[in-house]
Amino acid sequence: MSQNKLEKYREEIAACIKCGKCNATCPTLVHTTDESIGPRGRVAIISAILKGRIKLNRRVEKKLSACLSCLACNETCPNEVNPADIIMAAREEIADTRGVHKGINRGTTFILKRMGRISYLAKISSYLARVYNLIPNSGFLGKLLPYADNKGKRLFPLSMKKEFLSQYPKTISPDKPIKRVGYFVGCTTNLIFQSEGEALISLLKKMGVEIVIPPEQTCCGAPSYHLGDIEGTRKLAEKNIAIFGKDGLDEIVTSCATCGHMLKKIYPEISNGTQFGAKMMGEKIIDINRFIVEQINERGLTQKVSDRTRIKVTYHDPCHLRRGLQILEEPREILKGINWIEYVEMEDADSCCGGSGLFSLKHYDLSKKIGKTKVEAILKTGAEIVATSCPSCKMQLEDMLRREGSRIKVYHTVELLNEAIEN
Ligand code: SF4
Ligand code: SF4
Repeated sequence: MSQNKLEKYREEIAACIKCGKCNATCPTLVHTTDESIGPRGRVAIISAILKGRIKLNRRVEKKLSACLSCLACNETCPNEVNPADIIMAAREEIADTRGVHKGINRGTTFILKRMGRISYLAKISSYLARVYNLIPNSGFLGKLLPYADNKGKRLFPLSMKKEFLSQYPKTISPDKPIKRVGYFVGCTTNLIFQSEGEALISLLKKMGVEIVIPPEQTCCGAPSYHLGDIEGTRKLAEKNIAIFGKDGLDEIVTSCATCGHMLKKIYPEISNGTQFGAKMMGEKIIDINRFIVEQINERGLTQKVSDRTRIKVTYHDPCHLRRGLQILEEPREILKGINWIEYVEMEDADSCCGGSGLFSLKHYDLSKKIGKTKVEAILKTGAEIVATSCPSCKMQLEDMLRREGSRIKVYHTVELLNEAIEN
């Protein structure tokens, strides 16, 4: 291992006093009690690699890949050590020296390099998901199924027939717009959870905002970034920055926590300074919850008069929104302000749901354990709806709730607010 990418963390790694405070909040450790897949253990492994005491082999790679990038350890460390960042640097080093071309990693890089053909690829995966759904979870074939156990098969959401991006004009203008705002849609909303994007557009129209939705926008690069493929991520970043940089936008809203974190925090980090306007784009990126609360505070919003019975709603914090972008009050403010919602806080609302994109595909058994704890917290609230602000969390929560036999629905906060607001 050349260790180039890890070099800049040498001092930070040495600053770890092995107190173990970070371990207490690490979902992968809490659910396995395996010290080697907790932050302190992972930092110790990376330190030993840097000192040449152990070799980087498949076992080590697996331990590093079984990190959710939930950032909980960064937040907990009293010594300003950031284990999640150190683990990411190690993944980058692995991708550079050993490549990312194995199993699910290979499939992901294949897709990301062919983003222009994403709708064809989505159709193929949707077809495969349909076949998967048809196979009974019993008998000879059932036994061969991946992602299946005695509680059932994994819920693979199907992609929609048409991409979201192909269904709207590039610009949607009200009469006297109060702002001109770009919308970064993100792959999951573009292909699967289109109702979230529809609600966002409907809501912004009601607020008198001009919306620009560049149809050529592409993936934010989160999957390649988490595989350690920084070069591939940089290419996607350059493309998105060029696309969103030319429209004279006041702000750029995102409705996906992970996309928002990538665009606002990671693009400037991987851009090597001012290389491609990443900082400028980052400053314009704003999560839709924060944007809405700012607009409500400035101009107000009129709710429909409602005689519906109040519904208990709870909220799950996406890691990249709460810890990555420090947005935690705004979604709660929105939900508490809706006249038909009785808001109820869940225990450990900020603990990871266990989804984390590729993590749940590569480590489904561990993902299920983490997800089960989240479902237990949701069930304790007695809520009928769980709101969140990340399509990836929604995918995981829906799968986990179904596994536990629950009918609780999962919505994005904008879907609930849009339903409550007067046209
Ligand atoms: S990373 Fe921080 S919290 Fe974790 S063991 Fe090291 S010093 Fe303690
Ligand atoms: S980022 Fe999350 S899963 Fe990874 S080591 Fe830190 S706390 Fe554990």
